[in-house]
Order: sequence, then structure tokens, then C-alpha cells
Amino acid sequence: MSAIEPPLGLLAELTHRCPLRCPYCSNPLELARAAAELDTATWARVFGEAAALGVLQVHLSGGEPTARRDLPELVRHAAGAGLYTNLITAGVLLDASKLAALAEAGLDHVQLSVQDAEAGNADRIGGYAGGHARKLAVARLVRDAGLPLTLNAVVHRQNLDRLPELIDLALELGAGRIEVAHVQYYGWALANRAALLPGRAQLEAATATVEAARERLKGRLVIDYVVPDYYAKRPKACMGGWGRVVLAVSPEGRILPCHAAESLPGMEFPNVRDTSLRAAWERADAFTRFRGTAWMPEPCRSCDRRENDWGGCRCQAFALTGDAAATDPACSLSPHHALLDLAVAEAAGGAETFTYREIGRAPRRSALPP
Ligand code: SF4
Ligand code: SF4
Repeated sequence: MSAIEPPLGLLAELTHRCPLRCPYCSNPLELARAAAELDTATWARVFGEAAALGVLQVHLSGGEPTARRDLPELVRHAAGAGLYTNLITAGVLLDASKLAALAEAGLDHVQLSVQDAEAGNADRIGGYAGGHARKLAVARLVRDAGLPLTLNAVVHRQNLDRLPELIDLALELGAGRIEVAHVQYYGWALANRAALLPGRAQLEAATATVEAARERLKGRLVIDYVVPDYYAKRPKACMGGWGRVVLAVSPEGRILPCHAAESLPGMEFPNVRDTSLRAAWERADAFTRFRGTAWMPEPCRSCDRRENDWGGCRCQAFALTGDAAATDPACSLSPHHALLDLAVAEAAGGAETFTYREIGRAPRRSALPP
């Protein structure tokens, strides 16, 4: 067996607790409770194992990672292990003294999410009154603490028309980068798909906005943007390919090739409580099953793009076809591609109201779109 390249990044999902209730949240439908979370010492060990495996960056995520009181200690352990530390946060629980403690512990970067550029709609989408104003204040505190800032704007039908304002907001807040991230439709987002999928004309306008802004803001703001799967001809290399670039650890310690992988049935994920990250990465079935190209069905198996997109997203393939080993329906060569056109047509007359994310209140499976 040829040597397996080490992962570059670790997504550390420290908790599923979050004061916001975004209807597109990428956390699983069954959310972990606080009592089941890994403790500080276990996370410290995990960061050491990650660094020894070759990981360079840790993304401290959730849920809302700042809901953990031991976050400065966790940052200190991760930085002490030599990892570049990126905090992915909704921001509303932060203040100047907490940010100072995180910076002092060795935090390298903050990625702050915003739900919209318009406060009322942002608070409605996040299900948290006053959240948007709080985020703007926190963004300024991040810059005051001397930390680099990325704005993370998750976009969909109900905020995409304000993309120009979101880009202006990133500039105004002193962010060096904005990630314009289209919703990925599994989990909570799949339950809300009819309320979130943008229309084609809306998407084309957004893509033109990004192209013009990239030209205008060269050297001032980096804009990350990828056309969403439901309108693409070919899928993205989800997570850079299964078990190739990134691994994730859930709040309860499950070691995952992707934060959404728990949605796949019939898979057993090792746990950091009894398996090392190295053993999981190199040998666990959860990592080897869809790594590389040997598992692929046709048309991927004989396709010359198979080592570019690695067959797309397994979670999306399962969510739409019921088969995790199918070609991602986002690919126009997939026999299931028409499912995406149906979803777009359904969303055109779709609902505006959301099923908000809540711990202990997963939407019924029968309520999810087929
Ligand atoms: S997407 Fe929203 S609800 Fe989910 S963790 Fe992030 S801020 Fe919280
Ligand atoms: S057939 Fe498979 S490998 Fe080829 S472009 Fe589509 S998803 Fe990618």
C-alpha cells in the first residue's frame, strides 16, 4: 500500500451548543448534549496527535465554540502543539476581554459568520434577536485585538440579493477575506431546502457581483465563491476528497472524514476515546471506504475528472439518492441529475418560513424532501 498523505486540517467541533438557530446549520439533526462533550484534557491530547500526524491547521468550530468556558485553554494547547488556530464563530458570546484572552493564548485567526447585511433579516435567519448588531461590534473588537478577520456569509434565496452589501460590510469591518458560501443541502438545510434554494436569475446576478467585486477589490479583499451544486454541471471535490485533506472530530469524539458524514447510515466511526487519529486516518473503514477512486461506480470510474472532484459529495449522494456510493447527483453525468432540477422547480414557489435548528428537536425524517 502506498503511503497515505497526512491531513492538512483538523475540524474540531468542540460543542453543538449554539445560541443561534440557523435553518441551514451543517450540524447533524441529532445534536450532542453538553454532558457528552470531550473534556479539556482529551482535546489537548487530540491536538497533540493531530500535530504528530502532520496536521497544520485546527479549525475550532461547533456549534458555537465560544460556548465552551475552556476555549482559551484549548487554544493554548492547540497553539502549543504547533497548530495554526482558526476560530469559527457566530461571535455573539464574545467580548473584548474574552478576545484578549484568546489572543494571549495564541489564537491566530477569527472567522465570523453573518446571516445577512440587513439586521432585521439577519436576526430572523439566525433566530437570535440583536445578533447582527452584536456581531458588528465583535468584528471591530477582533480587529482591535490585532487578529486577522474573515467574514463568512452563508448565502441562499433569502439574503443573496444583498451580496453587494455583504461585500461592502466585509470591507467596512476590516476583513481581509469574505467567504461567500452557498448552503449545502443536507441535514437542517435539506429540511429547509424549499425556503433556501436561490433561483437561477438570482444566482447569475450574484456570480456577476462577485466577478466585478473581485476585479474592483484586488489586493484589498479576497472573495471565496463557488457556484452552488444545484446549478453546477460538475460537483465540487467535497472536503478536497474523502479522507484526503481534512478530518473532523465531533463534540462526542467521533473521528469523521467530513463533519456531515454522521448522516450516512451503516458506517462506524472510530472515537478519540479509544482510537488514535493516526489509526483512524490510515486504517479505519470510515476513511478508506470512499478514499481514492477504487470505490467509484460508473460514470465516475472511467471519467477523466475522477481525480479532480473525487466523485463529489457522499452526503449529498446519500441525501438525494439513498446511496452513499452513487455519483453525486450534482454531476450532469449522474443518472439522478434530474432530481436537482425538480428541487429547483419546487423551490421557485417555495416557502419563506424555516424549521429552526434546535437541540432535541430534529425534524421528522418523513418531513425531509425525497
Ligand atoms: S450555522 Fe448557525 S446555528 Fe449552526 S453552529 Fe453556526 S451559528 Fe450556530
Ligand atoms: S462522472 Fe464522477 S468523476 Fe466525472 S465529473 Fe461526474 S462526478 Fe466527477
